[in-house]
Amino acid sequence: MRKPEDLLAQGDGLLVVDVQRDFCPGGALPIPEGDEVVPVINRWIESALKKTLPIYYSRDWHPEGHPSFEKNGGDWPLHCVQGTPGADFHDDLLLVPAAVVIAKGVRFDQDQLSVFDQTGFAEKLRRDGVKRLWVAGLALDVCVRATALDGVRAGFDIGVVVPACRPVTPAGGEAALDAMRAAGVQLLGDNG
Ligand SMILES: [Zn+2]
Repeated sequence: MRKPEDLLAQGDGLLVVDVQRDFCPGGALPIPEGDEVVPVINRWIESALKKTLPIYYSRDWHPEGHPSFEKNGGDWPLHCVQGTPGADFHDDLLLVPAAVVIAKGVRFDQDQLSVFDQTGFAEKLRRDGVKRLWVAGLALDVCVRATALDGVRAGFDIGVVVPACRPVTPAGGEAALDAMRAAGVQLLGDNG
């Protein structure tokens, strides 16, 4: 895989999607190998820091009454409830104090899988001069997919660092890669 320092350039930004305890093994909604993205993402964060590029972290940040929960008629078990340990970022994820954290999944009337969904994120990227956004994190077939597709629609060049993502299911991951490829997302894979 090509190194982040060879790829990151002025005008780029890095978005780390939902690398939270509940999405990793041992959490409430664990994604297989979810924790394995952490060292890969940390290298991207370090490289972005060296180049003084903007770094963003999103987090699922649900109220107990969130419509995505089974008890409220949704599809998912309770996860990433605001203020609980499961909603914390993974312990080993490199956190940059100055970076922006975007909370999503905070609404009572609908879920927000995409980091762009009614968060103002596109406006923030434009203000920061970001033209190309590199996306990594969890899960490849849910929030990473939705975010990448929305990012293209919002007019950004989107790159997904595939080895720094994991899907909920392998089939979902393949479908996500197909959909993103078809939309013009640059998929950075094991061979660069
Ligand atoms: Zn959620």
